[in-house]
Amino acid sequence: MFHDTASVLFGVEGLQITGAEAGPGGTLEVWAVTDHPAAGACPDCGTVAGRVHEQVLTRPRDVARGLDPVQVWWVKRRWKCGNGQCGRKTFTEWVPQVPPRCRLTERLRERAAEEIAGRGVTPAEAARGNGMSWPVAHGAFAAVADPLLEQPPAPVAHLGIDEHRRGRPRWKLDEDTGEYVLLADRWHTCFFDLSGQQGLLGQVQGRTADDAAYWLAQATPQWRDRIETVAIDMCSIYASAVRRMLPGAQLVVDLFHVVHLAVKMTGDVRRRTVRGKYGRRGRSGDPEYGIKGLLVRNLEHLSPGQFAKVIDTLGKDPAGQEITAAWIGKEKLRDALNLRARVTGSAPCERDVRGRLFAFYDWCAQNDDIPELLSLARTVSRWENEIVAAVLTGITNSVSESLNRLAKLEGRLAYGFRNPVNQRRRVRIACTRGTRRRSRHVTIKKSRSVTGRQHDPG
Ligand SMILES: [Zn+2]
Repeated sequence: MFHDTASVLFGVEGLQITGAEAGPGGTLEVWAVTDHPAAGACPDCGTVAGRVHEQVLTRPRDVARGLDPVQVWWVKRRWKCGNGQCGRKTFTEWVPQVPPRCRLTERLRERAAEEIAGRGVTPAEAARGNGMSWPVAHGAFAAVADPLLEQPPAPVAHLGIDEHRRGRPRWKLDEDTGEYVLLADRWHTCFFDLSGQQGLLGQVQGRTADDAAYWLAQATPQWRDRIETVAIDMCSIYASAVRRMLPGAQLVVDLFHVVHLAVKMTGDVRRRTVRGKYGRRGRSGDPEYGIKGLLVRNLEHLSPGQFAKVIDTLGKDPAGQEITAAWIGKEKLRDALNLRARVTGSAPCERDVRGRLFAFYDWCAQNDDIPELLSLARTVSRWENEIVAAVLTGITNSVSESLNRLAKLEGRLAYGFRNPVNQRRRVRIACTRGTRRRSRHVTIKKSRSVTGRQHDPG
């Protein structure tokens, strides 16, 4: 073990620094020799060699010192194996930081991996910054990421399922029919921990019920039994997968999507009636166009003046009355959803929720000449149990949506992914990074064995 100050500052176990000087362009040139107890032992038979065969000069790449690159010149010895029975004639020295046949120090590899896994730098950027190739940087990242991701997930009480598109859909023009045919539309189904801090639990390629069921089938039956609720968008595919694989779990739909559907319905009615009234699409100057921003807002967020403007504008003709009916339908549906505890501050009662939903159905039945309103009522009644469960439990899929944003950001940073396995790895690391940060301060950091001389207390 070395003891001189330069070697301690350099901090690579087994390398003794013999000289250092400033090179061209701010490069720090460091000269080193081996000083490691195991360096002279034959890697095949373990015999400690006594005879030096030759000296070789190597240049392992190392981490930079501040902003300046470091150039290491390591004078290695090639030893002759003293064991006559051993098949190996000669071997060169190595130290743990620079294993045999490696041209990079381990700490340089670790830094690149940490940049990608811990700080969200892309492999291409980490490779550029650390003076290595993309495959080396990505390999270092995968070596760190895979053991983290292979750990089985901890029990989850509330599971979220969502999908995100992988890349863009590809179309091809059919020469015979002149129509565009969908060539590829690739999706990932993602599973999220809504109750805990585990983030993205896993992904599977595709978005069919079988794809989702496949991922759930890989978990242990004990893990599946612990799931109490599953939050999904209003997507019957995932609902059927959940009913098949998690028969004991309560299904809830994300209320944001229910409101979104109602708001979209209001817009659809407005566009259709405006087209019927003017024979063209709406434009600025039309009274209906002037209030379109107010119609999508929540009723309770309108000022008295804005409310009066909506009523005045729509009360004038049958087209406006139709839009008003759709708007009231949206607000009646929101009335039911607003019984959730986050809004009212008290636990909702199932009978009240169903009562308000009934008022919404009743309104839709009174206005059965508006097809969009009827279609919304049909969708809501199909998902009524799941909507009521969402209001009662207050569980939303918002964690999934926010992590989906991270997944999409990762795709943009990479300028798209060619390899789906790499994409899943990068996305999962990105969507679990916060969890690892939170748990870091409770884990004790591994201490390095590189130390200098003990200070003499006297
Ligand atoms: Zn040997």
